[in-house]
Amino acid sequence: MLEPDATGGAVVGAGLPQGARFVGPVPGLEPGWRGGDAPADADLATCVACGLCLPHCPTYRLTGDESASPRGRIAAMRLVAEGRAEVDATFARFMDLCLVCRACEDVCPSHVPFGRMMERARVQVEPLRAGRERLLRRLGLEVALPRRWLLSLARTFTPLARPFLPKRVRGLVPRARPGPRVPAVTDPVGEPKGTLAMLTGCVQDQWYREVNRATARALARNGWRVLAPRAQTCCGALPAHHGRLETARALARRNLRAFAEADLVVVNASGCGAHLKEIGELLGTDDAAAFASKVRDVTELLAGDGLRGPNANPGFTRVAVHDACHALRVQHLREEPRALLRRIPGIELVDVADGDRCCGAAGLYNVLQPQTADELMRRKAEAIAATGAEVVASANPGCTMQISAGLRALGTDLRVLHPVEILDRAYAAEEPAREGEVHA
Ligand code: SF4
Ligand code: SF4
Repeated sequence: MLEPDATGGAVVGAGLPQGARFVGPVPGLEPGWRGGDAPADADLATCVACGLCLPHCPTYRLTGDESASPRGRIAAMRLVAEGRAEVDATFARFMDLCLVCRACEDVCPSHVPFGRMMERARVQVEPLRAGRERLLRRLGLEVALPRRWLLSLARTFTPLARPFLPKRVRGLVPRARPGPRVPAVTDPVGEPKGTLAMLTGCVQDQWYREVNRATARALARNGWRVLAPRAQTCCGALPAHHGRLETARALARRNLRAFAEADLVVVNASGCGAHLKEIGELLGTDDAAAFASKVRDVTELLAGDGLRGPNANPGFTRVAVHDACHALRVQHLREEPRALLRRIPGIELVDVADGDRCCGAAGLYNVLQPQTADELMRRKAEAIAATGAEVVASANPGCTMQISAGLRALGTDLRVLHPVEILDRAYAAEEPAREGEVHA
């Protein structure tokens, strides 16, 4: 039974004390955001500070520090939004240590759009960076990534530059043997199913081109005619994660034009797929939303599409599956790569302990935040090695680089392959390799 309040009136329905508020900015204070993109008040208001996300946040688990937790980061954003703090070096540290793995978003009962908020908060942080750092980021994210020829040059000269690279970068960059690009058109094998267009990516196309060729071959063997539009460019995920949303938007518009005729857009890199599926939100236009609805991860497409299972084994049995955060948390693809791999004769899948924890790659995080990234890499590599697997399946080039480096540091010879590479090798084992194709 509710008691009447001091004035004798009913408590239920009584007015709140003056100035009381649950969420939202303090009246009279100006937000502390600089110009450009910033976290929206409506997004910030969705967090009820319950803390349920904390045990799922890799940086909070490592540090035990609220400032390295999702709730702490949102609180810092709110302080700026309410005009009670500035975008300064402290704020930048709160934002920089985040992996944008989006584990917090995935488990949040209030559906806080954390990825969107963090990408916008990082736009605010960019002008604070020192001149040399800003220049390097600009050269990498705005100049090199969208230009295939520059990336190709970088890849070509990497072996020469390798001795001069910082030790940890040297350990991460793979020794690429790129071979030919995916043809502009790959014709289907057998009964045609339809036509789709494939994102070949920037890093994937230069450092993991075999994954692209395996993707086109596997799709063709499943009846798809595969187009690789030459006008396409980097998907924009890396610039978006690192405070360059305008660059990401410009790249998104270029890809919208390049893929305008496609009914389906297939992607084999989890980070790129997650970004393209959210491109409608990034551009805020109907055509971008329509494009996003056509995007499929290659494992999602093949596993859900009457996959033609191979009848041969690719030469190994025990496979550990690594779930990239942007596959698991954003695209909710956990079963799809496993369903695909289970169709391969003789393959035994093993799960990795704490498999939903980020490996620490996270775009450029493994270069920019070496301490945290190395610790996450070590834990991930040890968990994978403990499975006794011969091969680990990884569908994201950043994770593949990071995990490969971690496994090398442990001294294991465990190989890291894309799930579709494993499928392609199984198809290849059904018949002698065609001349010029290398499968092993
Ligand atoms: S982000 Fe979600 S789970 Fe985390 S504290 Fe806020 S409301 Fe709770
Ligand atoms: S995105 Fe990942 S690292 Fe960042 S706050 Fe959320 S769970 Fe933590």
